Amino acid sequence: LVSTNAGGTQVLRHGTMRALVAGLEAVLPDGSIYHGLTALKKDNRGYDLKQLLIGGEGTIGIVTGVTVKTVPALIDRCVIWAGLDSPEQAYDLLQFLSGRAGTNLEGFEILPESCAASVMTHIPDVRRPLEGRFAWYALAELVRDSADGPDVQALAERLMSDAMELGLARDAAISANEAQAENCWKIRDSIAEAERASGPALQHDISVPVEKMAAFITSASPEVEARFPGTAVAAFGHLGDGNVHFHVKAPLGETKAWMDAQAGSISALVYDLVAREGGSISAEHGIGQNKLAELARLSDPAHLLALRAIKTAFDPDNLFNPGKLVPLA
Ligand SMILES: Cc1cc2nc3c(=O)[nH]c(=O)nc-3n(C[C@H](O)[C@H](O)[C@H](O)COP(=O)(O)OP(=O)(O)OC[C@H]3O[C@@H](n4cnc5c(N)ncnc54)[C@H](O)[C@@H]3O)c2cc1C
Repeated sequence: LVSTNAGGTQVLRHGTMRALVAGLEAVLPDGSIYHGLTALKKDNRGYDLKQLLIGGEGTIGIVTGVTVKTVPALIDRCVIWAGLDSPEQAYDLLQFLSGRAGTNLEGFEILPESCAASVMTHIPDVRRPLEGRFAWYALAELVRDSADGPDVQALAERLMSDAMELGLARDAAISANEAQAENCWKIRDSIAEAERASGPALQHDISVPVEKMAAFITSASPEVEARFPGTAVAAFGHLGDGNVHFHVKAPLGETKAWMDAQAGSISALVYDLVAREGGSISAEHGIGQNKLAELARLSDPAHLLALRAIKTAFDPDNLFNPGKLVPLA
């Protein structure tokens, strides 16, 4: 978790591991031990070695201990499933809900109708939360973690009634029990599996500034589809984090071999569009080996200089996870 800087659907409220690790211990390539387990709220002794190790993909140290920040257990939660016209409307709804629910808003995810349909086709035991079909859906989770917190179901009903009056959603279902909440999450969590079952697709895990993501989806999807006729983009995921999984599906009837042959040019286009918005070619999944060339192509020289200098300073003999994360000079 630490060396991948993992995050999930609750990053909106709690952040990734970067925000949750208070201290850590690690073995460095020269065999020395970094003793940083003590959690200090303030520590201004210069470079933060802990943050270099978080998300470092094991390239400069092996994490052997960690002090994590914990949060209160949830007492109650309520899931909103909203039918929407566009990613832009989803962003407006996100702004509204986070403004009104504050820290009671724990997650905000989006998916297009094509992903919902794919889940309904390929995944057993899920049902559509709304009768109607909409171009897009948002899943928002409201939580209560203290005795004096709000009744989240009443809050969800009030907020969505106001949101619909303001034109921020076309329709909404609000979970009345845990089974209904779970059903909504199962749809969201099954998208990757359903997409795999529906044919070859090229996956990208990208981020742009949160306020730019809706426009990015709306403009980048047709651009990619026009450049590679027959492909279909399915962008879904963590709108609240400015991070979506941007899948480009092969034309109907095409094989994985077709996808593999086109992968380099399709991904280069997607990453160029991301770079144009000042975004990241890897929001969650890291660089590893697969994205090394694109990281080298699209990073500014200062970033590459820092990556290589840090790796060399800690691991001059290239012992730890060689060939990962740091593009060769
Ligand atoms: C770069 C990356 C980012 C990911 N991000 C997410 C995410 O945001 N959300 C999510 O749900 N899943 C994510 N995953 C999926 C991954 O399965 C989870 O992060 C999971 O926590 C990995 O745990 P693991 O113990 O199985 O590690 P492994 O899959 O065994 O290792 C993952 C990486 O961490 C290194 N590593 C493992 N243990 C240590 C250690 N003790 N010290 C230093 N390095 C170590 C490995 O060398 C490898 O590079 C990510 C995976 C990777 C590789």
